Amino acid sequence: METKVMNCIMCPMGCELTVTLDNGKFVSVTGNSCPRGAKYAETEVTDPKRMLTTTVRIKGGLLPLLPVVSADVLPKGKIADCVAFLRNVTVEAPVQAGDVVVSNILGLGVDIIAGRGMEKI
Ligand code: SF4
Repeated sequence: METKVMNCIMCPMGCELTVTLDNGKFVSVTGNSCPRGAKYAETEVTDPKRMLTTTVRIKGGLLPLLPVVSADVLPKGKIADCVAFLRNVTVEAPVQAGDVVVSNILGLGVDIIAGRGMEKI
């Protein structure tokens, strides 16, 4: 058995969670003040996920870069691959906030969307 200590990031309370694992498999969690913390802890040790926020190039816009965000969480282990993919993406202004910039990035079932709108100049 081993234990891992982490802070829950699901709300500002930031409860300190102690997760017990057996050969890498989730056994139990303590320290959570609500069920969301237990779910977070189990996911974090078995299949961690993160939102992705970055930028892509934009042609003809007010600024050279457009902030983008994943529409849902992505596997933590795929974030670097997604960022590398997005480095080669260029969109054209105008763009509205929420427009899909990349659909189903890397086949992961998650869209990358514009974090803000940008006018054409
Ligand atoms: S365990 Fe519940 S109360 Fe504690 S930080 Fe997570 S979501 Fe918030």
